This record gives sequence, C-alpha cells and structure tokens, in this order.
Amino acid sequence: MDPRGDVTISVAGLRKSYGSFEAVRGIDFEVRRGEVLALLGPNGAGKTTTVEILEGYRTRDAGQVEVLGFDPARRTRALRSKVGIVLQECAVDPFLTVREALEQRSALYAAPRSAPEIAELVGLSAKEHARVKVLSGGQQRRLDLGLALIGNPELIFLDEPTTGFDPSARRESWEVVRGLCAEGRTVVLTTHYMDEAQALADTVVVIAAGQVVASGPPDTLGGRDHGETTVRFSLPPGVTVGELPLPDGSVPVVAGGTVELHLADPTAAVHDLTGWALARGEILPGLTVVRPSLEDIYLALTGDPAAGGTTPGTTPGTTPGTTPGTAPLTSGGAHPTSGGAGVHPGADRAAAEVPDP
Ligand code: ATP
Repeated sequence: MDPRGDVTISVAGLRKSYGSFEAVRGIDFEVRRGEVLALLGPNGAGKTTTVEILEGYRTRDAGQVEVLGFDPARRTRALRSKVGIVLQECAVDPFLTVREALEQRSALYAAPRSAPEIAELVGLSAKEHARVKVLSGGQQRRLDLGLALIGNPELIFLDEPTTGFDPSARRESWEVVRGLCAEGRTVVLTTHYMDEAQALADTVVVIAAGQVVASGPPDTLGGRDHGETTVRFSLPPGVTVGELPLPDGSVPVVAGGTVELHLADPTAAVHDLTGWALARGEILPGLTVVRPSLEDIYLALTGDPAAGGTTPGTTPGTTPGTTPGTAPLTSGGAHPTSGGAGVHPGADRAAAEVPDP
C-alpha cells in the first residue's frame, strides 16, 4: 500500500480552451487524502480554470479527472455533498446573522456540523449573533470558511483564503487548515502568498501558461534543497577580505563592507570563517546563511527575469538568457463568486459552464 494514503484527486493530461486560447495545456497531478495541495502561478496561469474543472463548474476538453472517485463533470450530488468551497468573494445575505447564515447553509446537507461548532472553529463565536453586514473583511472571510465547512466536507477548495486577514488571523486560519487535514480531510489551496504555501502545503504545483512547471514539497521544489546557499556577513573593523579564510575558488562579492559568498554547501566555509573569527576574538556582524526561498524558486520558475526565470518546461536557473516566462499576465477573466442558495452548498459558481442537474 502507498504510505502516502488514498488518492483523493487525480488529474492527467487535462486541457481546456476558451475559443482558440488554450488556457490549460496538459496538466497532471495527484492529491492524497489528508494532504494540502497548493496551486501557485501568475495571474492567468490557469489555476482557477483547473480548480473549476475539479469542482465540476467547468467542462474539460481533454484528460482524465477523478475527485473522490467521481468524475466531477457529472456533477453528482454524492460528490458535491463531500466538497466544500471557499471562493475569493462570498455573497451571503448581509441581513442574516452569522448563526443564521450557517444554519441556512447547513440545511442543505444530510449530516452537517452544528453552527456553534463551526463558528468556534473559525473564530466567530463572539460574532454568532452579529449580522453579516457588520463583519469586518477578515471576519467575512472566516464566515466563508465556516460556510464551506458546515457540511462536513472531505475535500475543501480554498481560493486565496487569507486575503485581507491580519497576521494573527492568518496564523489562526492556518491552524484551522492543519486541523482539517489532521482529521483526514484534503485541501486544495490556491494562493499568491508563498509563506502560506510554505506553511501549509504538502505538495506545491506551480502552473505557468497552462502547464505544470514544477511540483513537489515546498522544501525541495525546483531543486531548492540543492540550490546555492548565500553566506553573508559584514567585515569586522580593520579586516580586509584578503585576510578571510575563504573556500578555494570562491568569489566573494563585497559591497559597502558586506561580504557575500554563493556556495553549493556552506558547512565547511561557515566552520572556517566562524573558527577564524573566534580565534581572533572577533564576531562576524550580521552573519546569515540563506537557501533560496520558495519565492525565489517560484519567481525563477514562472519567469521573473530578475530571478533568472525561464519559460515553462525548462529548469530554472540553468538556462540564462532564455525568454522570460510566457504566462499571460491577464487577470483571471470571468471569476465567479459564490453564494446564493445554490443546490451546491458552499459554492454557486456564477460563471459555471455546467448548469446544476
Ligand atoms: P489568477 O491568479 O489571476 O486568478 P488563474 O491562474 O486562476 O489567474 P484562470 O482564471 O484560470 O487563471 O485563467 C487562465 C486564462 O484563461 C487567462 O488568460 C484568462 O483570461 C482566460 N480565461 C479564463 N476564463 C475565461 C473565459 N470564461 N473566457 C475566456 N477566457 C478565459
């Protein structure tokens, strides 16, 4: 048996065009039960299109897609009752209270969780009797999450879930997501926040121009774990670069008294430098040892020229001079919003190509 558990979502060879424009050009990935998958990519990369196909709100042109054992294109009730969706904007009757909004939504499910339980889970217990219209932006996003969770879903789609959250609210919502996964639920997250992907995702899939350009755990994505390490420190007073015990062949970059070394493995160099400093009774001011961040890797993968970006399908950082990414930088087109008393609890994709059966 695969130790990573059951496959909740599998996508193979997925394609989708809008007229003559091919927005999704052969995407493959898998998500397993209890995992968080983060879909990253520039505006217009094809993330929403992909997610809407998984949710059953868009048809696909080609490829195999299975979600919780179902083909989402069939839009069966059995699948939809197992899925919760949090969109970027959620239209809830502003005159309902939080409790009423949750209860109204829960009536659509066979085995919902209770409204007070969900209010507590998303940190809205104190606002249960407040009308939706008086909630702050961050509180409304919490309610969106609560509405998606009230039906006790096995799979949750989160579209930019923490936009507008203050830093502590973001951390709290990350804890909620971790709690959901610990219960064996699966989360598909679309985000532009790299720290969110880093904090939550088991697997990151980077999409650019309708193709997967890299996928894997955030710590190893795109060879991040083997990437060059930067060692940086300030020269101690009265010391010249020539006196430093630097690795053979290394080329220090010195600017304004700061020395920067780019090394494949910093272990020996840091040992030599700190040993040398301690023996002299010096310190190395501002010493840092930094591997490429997820954002560095993301920018390289998706075509930021400053980060050595490449076109989709090439390895970042290995082909300097290639054309920077070709991902269309258009906004996501007709982004639907959720809400209303749609048959699908948790989302009513206004721009759905597929009507409710
Ligand atoms: P964002 O990060 O901006 O939300 P995204 O990665 O979710 O972007 P999509 O919304 O999937 O991107 O859009 C992919 C491409 O398809 C874009 O170029 C977009 O303009 C185009 N597109 C999306 N929906 C439609 C539509 N209904 N009709 C025509 N083109 C569309």
